[in-house]
Amino acid sequence: GPRNTDQLELKDIFIAVKTTRKYHRSRLELLFQTWVSQAKEQTFIFTDGDDRELQLKTGTNIINTNCSAAHNRQALCCKMSVEYDKFIESQKKWFCHVDDDNYVILPSLLRLLSSYHHSQDIYLGRPSLDHPIEAAERVKSDGTMSVKFWFATGGAGFCISRGLALKMSPWASLGNFITTAEKIRLPDDCTIGYIIEALLEVTLTHTHLFHSHLENLQKLPVPTVLHQVTLSYGGFENRRNVVSIVGGFSLTEDPTRFKTVHCLLYPDTEWCPQLKPG
Ligand code: UDP
Ligand code: MN
Repeated sequence: GPRNTDQLELKDIFIAVKTTRKYHRSRLELLFQTWVSQAKEQTFIFTDGDDRELQLKTGTNIINTNCSAAHNRQALCCKMSVEYDKFIESQKKWFCHVDDDNYVILPSLLRLLSSYHHSQDIYLGRPSLDHPIEAAERVKSDGTMSVKFWFATGGAGFCISRGLALKMSPWASLGNFITTAEKIRLPDDCTIGYIIEALLEVTLTHTHLFHSHLENLQKLPVPTVLHQVTLSYGGFENRRNVVSIVGGFSLTEDPTRFKTVHCLLYPDTEWCPQLKPG
C-alpha cells in the first residue's frame, strides 16, 4: 500500500552514547551485544581513547573525541560539545543522548518521538530534581541575577528535536558549549537545560519513561518495564539496583538485567534461551 513518508523511522534518530576508555570492556560490550546491535547505523559512541579492536569487531561508529578521560566538568562538556556537532552534521531528525549504563528500548523510543515533530521545539527527559535548579546568570547578565530552570538528567537519557538543536547553536556549536558551561559552572546536562529553558525559553517536557540509577529501579512495575524508553542499573556500590524482570537469565548470569530485557524484546536473537515448545 502507499507509504506515509512522514512516518518517523529509527534511522532518523541519532543516538549518542557517552563513554570512557576504561568502560569499553565492562560496559560497552554489553550494549553492543544488546540494544546497539539493533541500531548500529544510528548509534554513535563518544569516547576518549582509540580502540581499533572494538571498532573492527563491532563495525559501529566509535568517535574518539580527544577530550580528557577525567571525570570533571570540562571533560564531560567537551564530549557533549562533540556529540552536538556530530548530530548537526548528521542531518538526522532527533538527537538522543544516553550514558553507557543505559539500555534503550528502541520501539518505545520510536513510539515516543513519533508523537512529536522534529521541526517543533522539543526537549524531552526526566528531571533529576523535583524542583528547578537555580544558577547565577552569567551569559545574559553579569552574574548578579539568578535564573531558575529545569534540566533532564543525563544519566537517564534525553532527546532534542533538530528544530530546537539548531536554535541552540550560538551557545552549543563548535566549542561554544564549553564556554557556556564554564560561564554557569554547571555539568553538561544542566548546561543543556540552561541553554534550552533559560536562554531559548523552551520548556522541558517531563517524561517518566527515562530512567537512571538515581532512582529505585526495582520499584518499576514489571508489566511496564518493556514500555519504558531507557533503563539503567547499579550505581555507586549498589549492584542490586536493577529492574525486577524475570526471564532466561539468573541474576548471576545477567546482573544488569539488560540481557533478559533484550531477549524479551528480541526473542529470536541467537544467544537468547529458546523457549521450549509447550
Ligand atoms: N564517564 C566519562 N568519563 C569518566 C567517567 C565517566 O565519560 O571519566 C561517563 C561514563 O562512561 C557514563 C557517564 O559518564 O556514560 C556517567 O558515569 P558513571 O555512570 O560512572 O557515573 P554516574 O554519574 O552515573 O554515577
Ligand atoms: Mn551511571
